[in-house]
Amino acid sequence: MFEVDMEGVPQRASTGSLPGRGRVAELLREAHARYAPLRDGVVADYIPVLERADPDRFGLSLIGVDGAAEEVGDAADAFTIQSISKAFVFALVCEEIGHHAVHERVGVNNTGLPFNSVMALELNLGSPMNPMVNAGAIATTAMMPAPSHSARWDAILHGLSRFAGRELAVDTEVYESEMRTNTRNRAIARLLEGYGRLDEDPGTIVEMYTRQCALLVTAHDLAVMGATLADGGVNPVTGERVVAEEVARDTLTVLASCGMYERSGEWLFEIGLPAKSGVSGGIVAISPGKGALGAFSPPLDPAGNSVRGQRACAFLSRALGLNLFASGVTSRESTA
Ligand code: GLN
Repeated sequence: MFEVDMEGVPQRASTGSLPGRGRVAELLREAHARYAPLRDGVVADYIPVLERADPDRFGLSLIGVDGAAEEVGDAADAFTIQSISKAFVFALVCEEIGHHAVHERVGVNNTGLPFNSVMALELNLGSPMNPMVNAGAIATTAMMPAPSHSARWDAILHGLSRFAGRELAVDTEVYESEMRTNTRNRAIARLLEGYGRLDEDPGTIVEMYTRQCALLVTAHDLAVMGATLADGGVNPVTGERVVAEEVARDTLTVLASCGMYERSGEWLFEIGLPAKSGVSGGIVAISPGKGALGAFSPPLDPAGNSVRGQRACAFLSRALGLNLFASGVTSRESTA
């Protein structure tokens, strides 16, 4: 995957709490300075409007379970949430109908294939395998219980807004651009219907899924949304309970195995945190009980994950002691 140069930066163990705010701010600034010069990756262009994104944009936000924020760079820049919406819609649907129902219809295992794979569905006899790939996310959106499609959309919009702690809005230009080109997602929805995994009209559900992906957020919003999962389902900024503790736990579990698509294993190996990325260049990485990182930078690796975002998360996971699996002293510096 990639090496993270930790020369001179003490690595912390993951137990306990976040370092003091001053140290967090300092390490965020360092992560930004280290990776801002990176020129690797390409901006997504399969949704035509997205190719206009400025590749130099780079913002980081960290929000603790106490609600305090530290940010650097373009943390207030708006971009579309895209696939990151899948994590939060999954949580909302589990809250409504319980995780067993979603598990049964959608699954929780990694496909090992790209997020928009049709072959993954065929290979698994119509099972989407997990809610973090397009097939699973489309099936999950359709499972949001509601008396009508407009009530379903309201539940999704209102629920995601409660995670963010503010009213989110759709970027109509991105939505329309994707609606003109999302033939693949339409095919996936039809196939799901054919396999008996979609009870709603496939066209309407793809339209709704595309709209949820076009909601505008910032790196700050992603950090608040993630911190809500880190805080057992309570938004630490608004104090509002958005989902139950078990739902927050189940969502983080699925993110750990499937959040970074076919790179989820490598991500967990390098970074050790449940996380979700989107093709606009956003990443949210969650440290349960501590807080969450929101990152934004448009250039992506071949799996569709932000290059600078991944590097910054790897660096900060080590430096801030966020890795779930690191229970001891992790460098010679920290024993000194
Ligand atoms: N809306 C995008 C799609 O369905 C989301 C994909 C992503 O962010 N990986 O293709």
